[in-house]
Amino acid sequence: MKLPRITRAHALVTLDCLEATYPEAHCALAHQNPWQLLVATILSAQCTDTRVNLVTPLLFARYPDPAAMAAAEPAELEALVRSTGFFRNKAKNLIACAAELVRKYKGEVPREMAALVALPGVGRKTANVILGNAFDVPGMVVDTHVGRIVRRLGWASAQTPERVEAQLCRLLPAKRWTQAAHVLIFHGRQCCRAQTAWCSACPVEDRCPQVGVGRRK
Ligand code: SF4
Repeated sequence: MKLPRITRAHALVTLDCLEATYPEAHCALAHQNPWQLLVATILSAQCTDTRVNLVTPLLFARYPDPAAMAAAEPAELEALVRSTGFFRNKAKNLIACAAELVRKYKGEVPREMAALVALPGVGRKTANVILGNAFDVPGMVVDTHVGRIVRRLGWASAQTPERVEAQLCRLLPAKRWTQAAHVLIFHGRQCCRAQTAWCSACPVEDRCPQVGVGRRK
């Protein structure tokens, strides 16, 4: 089915509505500085933010900065992050990432996309989380919620996160990217779920070209 082309004006009104619906939308990963957000975001792959937030207090106390993490014993770190899943790979990436921060950036987290994605364990999604939430640099995060919802809303048609990100960055003004991702993620968790799109209660039902998609509640 060919969907109608969504204009920027139409998308912005829809985004206004979603932002008004979810004023509490924010980065759900607990952190106090860019380093902590980087660690939490790496751990959040294939894991819930709630689970990550249970793990990070002890982790940040044990390894308060990249220098401490770079010197971590892999087995000890693996035990601390085990409940987040894929723990061996995550521990390996955390140690390698911390060592790179120490070696190249004096233990600071860089604030440029190219430098961030060159770090072990950091892809564009993680880099955009850091840019938008730690440095107030616009970052368009595309996770599974964002990708699914923007395709339903007709804001993007691509299937890969990188291409969806590029389409969204063309559609929305940069100053709205970071919060757009937060509200779309909230909407994806609370209403426009993968299997159960709750269209009858959706705040943008009258603006969605795929209203009724999936199984209605
Ligand atoms: S109308 Fe349905 S498919 Fe469209 S955004 Fe709302 S919940 Fe999702």
